[in-house]
Amino acid sequence: MKLLVTSRLPSPWGTYSISAFGQEGERFPHVVLHRGVKEALASNDPVDVRVHSECMTGDVFASQRCDCGEQLHNALGHFKQHGGMLIYLRQEGRGIGLVDKLRAYNLQDEGMNTYEANSAMGHGEDEREYTDAIGILDHYGLQDVRLLTNNPLKEQALKHAGVNVVERLPLRATETSDNAGYLRAKREITGHWL
Ligand SMILES: [Zn+2]
Repeated sequence: MKLLVTSRLPSPWGTYSISAFGQEGERFPHVVLHRGVKEALASNDPVDVRVHSECMTGDVFASQRCDCGEQLHNALGHFKQHGGMLIYLRQEGRGIGLVDKLRAYNLQDEGMNTYEANSAMGHGEDEREYTDAIGILDHYGLQDVRLLTNNPLKEQALKHAGVNVVERLPLRATETSDNAGYLRAKREITGHWL
């Protein structure tokens, strides 16, 4: 995996540098949005980082089944004020891909929770992995990070990989009738701080 290109991206949450990481000829690269990172590194400050796994339904279509889109936009709102880095990993649906994620939605509508639905299709509860995120942090020389997450497993995974998470910053999630069961499963089964 290597840096393929960097460009400029003006957005409602400020102007970012946008970079793509992958193999040569990559069609689905990991995407990194960053602003103010060089300055933070120069003054030895920890960098605020969000490691976000792709959720097309939530991120693009504002699905109410999950809190992904809200977390993504809250993170960008945070970076607008404080600077930081979004690492957008292409592992849709906790790593099971969009098609099985949509199949899992049908199982959830029949009464399973989000983890049971994935297991019923032969997947692990959570198939995400963060090796590429570590590679991206290494690329930019980020050692000390403030991690924007509600997910204890993600914090542990990054710590085990040698990232110095000096602080965890929570992301607000708004509970609705459509996502209440999903948020409850995240809280009760995988211990999310919600
Ligand atoms: Zn989602």
